[in-house]
Amino acid sequence: MALHHGLIIVGSGPAGLTAALYAARANLSPIVFEGVQPGGQLTITTEVENFPGFPRGILGPELMESFRQQAQRFGAQTFFKSVTQVDLRNRPFKVWADEEEYSCDALIVATGATARLLGLPSEKEYMGYGVSACATCDGFFYKGLEVVVIGGGDTAVEEATFLTKFATKVTIIHRRDVLRASKIMADKAAKNPKIAFLWNSVVEEVLGKNENGRKSVTAVRVKNVRTGTTTDLKTDGVFVGIGHQPNTDLFKGQLEMDAVGYLVTKGKGTATNIAGIFAAGDVADSVYRQAITAAGSGCQAAIDAEKWLEEHT
Ligand code: NDP
Repeated sequence: MALHHGLIIVGSGPAGLTAALYAARANLSPIVFEGVQPGGQLTITTEVENFPGFPRGILGPELMESFRQQAQRFGAQTFFKSVTQVDLRNRPFKVWADEEEYSCDALIVATGATARLLGLPSEKEYMGYGVSACATCDGFFYKGLEVVVIGGGDTAVEEATFLTKFATKVTIIHRRDVLRASKIMADKAAKNPKIAFLWNSVVEEVLGKNENGRKSVTAVRVKNVRTGTTTDLKTDGVFVGIGHQPNTDLFKGQLEMDAVGYLVTKGKGTATNIAGIFAAGDVADSVYRQAITAAGSGCQAAIDAEKWLEEHT
């Protein structure tokens, strides 16, 4: 027998927990399944300097704990459980979290996005042993060493700048000769004496060694896309900063999504193609992808869900 709730929220980043706060204050008694990364992507960052209201910045995990406590204060229940399956064909919708079956009248999807990888077998082999997709998580391990960062957007440039706190040299490897990153961040990186750029280049392989069962990265094989020449660049670490993939596998074939996998919402609101299901945050936003915009859309989703529940239950 499924446990029934009026509103279930899947995901616990700024979008999910803001939706929970607003829904709880609207007396909807929401429950939140926090997922594999409770608190979302901000929990793997250090200082957050662009969330309004914190003039001196705040640590990402601390900010997300405050989000959680604020939602709980008004009655939202949050669970450290992951949703493994959904059946959205009929109402009430069915949601399975850690093997338990739940049902709900309305659902807010706020499952966020995950860092993209190059897809190389060697990248996978050395993941966690010299390859990382999170400088703020792993940068500390590269004190006094040399690293490369792959990508040309804000993520890559931000990660590279952060890594200069630890590494002696950071080389940004970008497949074109112009950065996609915002000018202010690109200028900052260009002025940083520890940052070098390798333009028009793609990493074809991560090279490493395995000594007494300890794997480590020694170099990357880089191809110049203009000349076709391949060289090995010595490095101790590889940080992949090439963007993100929305976490929507769970909803494939059920919710409408774009070619990349971002959920499609209608007009200015958060409604998806299924009445009673709303999407908020990075899972439906390939453009802004900021904590503040995610929080804003979480608020919208809760208001949309409240209105919908009022009219349909
Ligand atoms: P972007 O999509 O902006 O950039 C991805 C970068 O990776 C591009 O330079 C792209 O190259 C490159 N890339 C993509 N796929 C590959 C591949 N397979 N091999 C090699 N290179 C590849 O993603 P970001 O995560 O950098 O940024 C996403 C959004 O988040 C942006 O709107 C950004 O402004 C924002 N953001 C803001 C931050 C801040 O304000 N502090 C920090 C981080 C992100 P190409 O340019 O050729 O397409």
